[in-house]
This record gives sequence, C-alpha cells and structure tokens, in this order.
Amino acid sequence: ARTQIDWELVMSSTKTKKPAFDERRARKLTDSKTKTGANGPVVYWMNRDQRFADNWALLRAAEHAQRLNTSLCIVFALAESYCGFATARHRCFMLEGLKQVADTAAKNNVGFAYLTDGDPSATVPNFVKTHGVQHVVCDMNPMREGRAWRKALADAKMCPLEEVDAHNIVPVWTASNKVEVGARTLRAKIHRLLPELLTEFPSAEEATANLPSPTVGTDPINWDAAIARARERGSAVPELAWAKPGEVAAKAVLNDFLANRLRLYEKRNDPAAPKALSGLSPWLRYGHISAQRAALAIGEIRKKVPKEAADGFIEEMVVRRELADNFVFYTPENYDQLSGQKYDWARETLQLHAGDPRPHVYTREKLEAGKTHDELWNAAQLELVHGGKMHGFMRMYWAKKILEWTASPEEALATGIYLNDKYSLDGRDPNGYVGVMWSIVGVHDQGWKEREVFGKIRYMNYDGCKRKFSIPAYVSRVNNL
Ligand code: FAD
Repeated sequence: ARTQIDWELVMSSTKTKKPAFDERRARKLTDSKTKTGANGPVVYWMNRDQRFADNWALLRAAEHAQRLNTSLCIVFALAESYCGFATARHRCFMLEGLKQVADTAAKNNVGFAYLTDGDPSATVPNFVKTHGVQHVVCDMNPMREGRAWRKALADAKMCPLEEVDAHNIVPVWTASNKVEVGARTLRAKIHRLLPELLTEFPSAEEATANLPSPTVGTDPINWDAAIARARERGSAVPELAWAKPGEVAAKAVLNDFLANRLRLYEKRNDPAAPKALSGLSPWLRYGHISAQRAALAIGEIRKKVPKEAADGFIEEMVVRRELADNFVFYTPENYDQLSGQKYDWARETLQLHAGDPRPHVYTREKLEAGKTHDELWNAAQLELVHGGKMHGFMRMYWAKKILEWTASPEEALATGIYLNDKYSLDGRDPNGYVGVMWSIVGVHDQGWKEREVFGKIRYMNYDGCKRKFSIPAYVSRVNNL
C-alpha cells in the first residue's frame, strides 16, 4: 500500500497544466557578482542527460537564448577517463548517442561543440572565454567528477552558471534537503510532489525555433574517428551488440516494455526470466531517455496494466533511483566508502566482524574471472562481463558474496564498485554506488540477525536463491549469452 500511486490525481494535474519550466528545477551556481556583458551564445553544458528531447536543462538554456536574443550551443566535454576507465563498451555507447544529439541539434539550428583536448575543468572555461559565452546551463550530476568540473567553471566567475536537475522528476534539492534514511522516508516526499512535477515537457523543437543561427559549434565533428579510437583503446571491455545507443533506440526499448512486458513486472525477481524487467537502465544512465517521459507513458497506459506492475515500476524507476541520487548528492565526499554510511550500527558491526574467518577468500582476479566455487555467483559475474548488465536480483547476491569472500569490508566495497564500474553498461552512476553500498554497508537498510562476517548486514545465500528461482535455468541463460 505504501508504494501505491494516486494516478488519477497525478495525471489530472499533468493534463491540466500547460507544459512549462518549473523554477524549482534550477539553481544558481554563481553569485550576482559574476561578470556579464559578453555577447556570445548561451551554452547548455551537457553532461549526464545526453538527449535533445524532454531535457529540462536544454529547455532552460533555450529560454535564456530567447531572452538574450542569441544563439544556443550544446557543449559536451569529454574526460580522458571517467571513474577510472575508458572502456569501448561505455564510451562507444556514449559517443554514438552524442552523435545523434549533434545531428538533431544541427537540424534545429542549435550548435554542438565536442571538447576533447584536456580535462573539462579546463576545456569548458576556455570555451566560455574564447567564445564570449553569456550564460551557461549545466545538468545535475552528483558524482565527484561532475562537481569538480562545475566548480572550476563557477569559480572562474566568467558568466552566470545555472544547474538544472534534468535527471530526476522531483529535483534532488527539492525532494529533500538532507540524506534520507531510506526509501521509506523519501517515498512520501516524492509521491507528494509528483502531481506538481510530473508534468509534460514543452517541445524542444518549438523552444529552439526562431533562435539566431549558431556562430559556434558548427564545425563538423568526425564522430566515426572518435568512435573508432574509443573502440581500439578500450577493447579490453568490448561493446554490446544488444544495446543500441541513442534517443530513438531508448524509446523503442520503452515502447516494447510498455506494450509487451510491463504486465510481467511482478516477476522481476526471477533472473531466469529477464524480460520482466524494463532493461532501461543503460539509456536512463546516459540520459538517452528521461525517466519523466517513461513515467508519463506509464500514466497514459495505467488502466491497461495491473496496478501493482505500474506502481512497482514507478517505485524502482522514480523512488529508488531518486533515492540513489539523494544519497550521492548529500554524501559528496565518500558516497563510495565505508565512512559514507552515516549510521554507526552498520560501520561498527562490519568492524566487529572484520576478523571473522571467511569460508572462502578470493583475490580480485579470481572474482573478475568468475572462478569461485559457486556456479551461481560465477554465472552472475559472467553475465556482467559478457552481457554487460546483470539481472537486478543477482546484483544483490553477487555483491553480498563479495563481502563474504574477501579479506575485509573495505576490500569488498572497492572490488564490488570496481567490477560494476568496469563492466556494467549502466555503471559509474549513483545507482551503482548505492546498490553496492546497500549490499555491503547496509545503506538505506536496517540491522538484521547477527552472524559471522556480515554482522548485522542483511545476508543472502544460495539456498534462498534456490527457493526463489531456477538456478539451472539462470546459469544456462548466461552460458548462452
Ligand atoms: P527495472 O526493474 O526495469 O527498473 C527500471 C529502472 O529503475 C532502472 O533502470 C533503474 O534506473 C531504476 N532502478 C531499479 N532498481 C533500482 C534500485 N535498486 N536502485 C536504484 N534504481 C533502481 N542500477 C544502475 O542503474 N546502475 C548500476 O550500476 C547499478 N548497480 C547495482 C549494483 C548492485 C550491487 C545492486 C544491488 C543494484 C544495482 N543497480 C544499479 C540497481 C538495479 O539493480 C538496476 O537499476 C536494475 O537491475 C536495472 O535493470 P532494469 O533497468 O531492467 O530494471
């Protein structure tokens, strides 16, 4: 009952409101002393939300360009490596998506500049200076890399910088002003604000129509060369044939899920039947699709699908996902470390049991190669390495066993994050950090019956999985990947 959505209330206010930018989605990162007076373009500094349609940051930037009667340019600044890796799997997916954004931008009289020559904390301020940019709007990325880049630009005080949360339906700073205890405490806040903030988007084409023609971001970009380079450089973790990047492909995944699979969503905890899940996480992660668009689409078809399925999906895609952003946003220094767990019980119980004998101890190499004694765990690891996306239920089991089979909780946490970030197409995202922190450090969870190694951290075991789903069916599915 707690997770039930009052769809009639949400959709009636959605339907009656004229699509418009809600001021709560934006916040200023520079003060009023910041210089103005340049006469160049307005820039949307795209980072996390790599799409043209349904993008509040782009819409906000277009509003400023209209107001200043100047052109609009989207800027994407590439970081040499992100969270430690430059794999072909992640980078080619991203570049193919950006290529599509650049094409759509060109058709809509919007520039697109792709900055590669250095760290974004230098390349973006340089761009702003060189082109006399009047105003920058960036999207919200709570991870430390994104924060550092934005801070560099804000500190340079060259022009007003505004951040827009284009990833969450309820902006992370509006949903709550503190790190939340868990889904239980954030859910009520999100549900209360959905009728106000789950609104239709203005059209990006209309918002950019009639803008002056771009003066920067008009040079052709050799995407094919950039993609070929990324493919070669990151070949240790190759691309995935099943994951077609970009906005068009993302819409197709959503439409297929809505038409054929959402009604199966109650089976989402069966790793042998992966079709019950939406499979949307890679596209949500890169912002190729907006979660708000997906939620609106669910609202449209709510009467044709079981309520538990529609509400269950919103619980995951909105409440749990926005909870992950809440955690990372309000735990900026250590969202990926043991100390990021603010509750003593969890840190203390892990320390108390740090010296417990482990039933098995594996090195990172053994784990990475999927060579443990447990066929189920090995299958999950291989699903991650070769499939590029582990089933959601298996992710919990997988991470908890890493805690059980490594020498210390610190090592378990670092290994879980390392493997997830390296291989998961949806990795290097708050959901990944929080997923691993939940499994290993008890973030957003409560204490359970105390036992060896885990202490009071929630335990999972092979027999529990055996009771829930067919392990041979899952293992055989992975072997056929
Ligand atoms: P669906 O069930 O169809 O869910 C739809 C969307 O809801 C997902 O795409 C995701 O955006 C969101 N969602 C679903 N479950 C969660 C959750 N528990 N927490 C936050 N958001 C959720 N998710 C990632 O996106 N990237 C990761 O790197 C990642 N790593 C994880 C690691 C561990 C150890 C654990 C326990 C969970 C992790 N998750 C991660 C959360 C979740 O498992 C995935 O989002 C989900 O499996 C993605 O598949 P889907 O899109 O088919 O899921």
